[in-house]
Amino acid sequence: MKVEEKLYQNRYMVDEGRPHVRIQPHDTASPTLRTLVDVCPAGCYSATDDGRVEIIPDGCMECGTCRILCEASGEIEWNYPRGGYGILFKFG
Ligand code: SF4
Repeated sequence: MKVEEKLYQNRYMVDEGRPHVRIQPHDTASPTLRTLVDVCPAGCYSATDDGRVEIIPDGCMECGTCRILCEASGEIEWNYPRGGYGILFKFG
């Protein structure tokens, strides 16, 4: 089974209006923020045409990669989803 097929087994409970990951306001994305577009395994981050980075955390796997990469810079705010929300791993 391919990784993509395994990931498709996961389910997400989206906490509408309360994203657990937020990017601090910025005019131009730093190199660290731009890196998140490539390293997020769920593809939550995307680059905009005007040089910023946006996030839609609905499919976040709570791997913590972006949290660690931005720990020093504080460019994102990262909290675990409230109880009952977030990813529900099928096999783990
Ligand atoms: Fe992506 Fe992992 Fe950050 Fe979630 S915790 S947004 S899956 S890098």
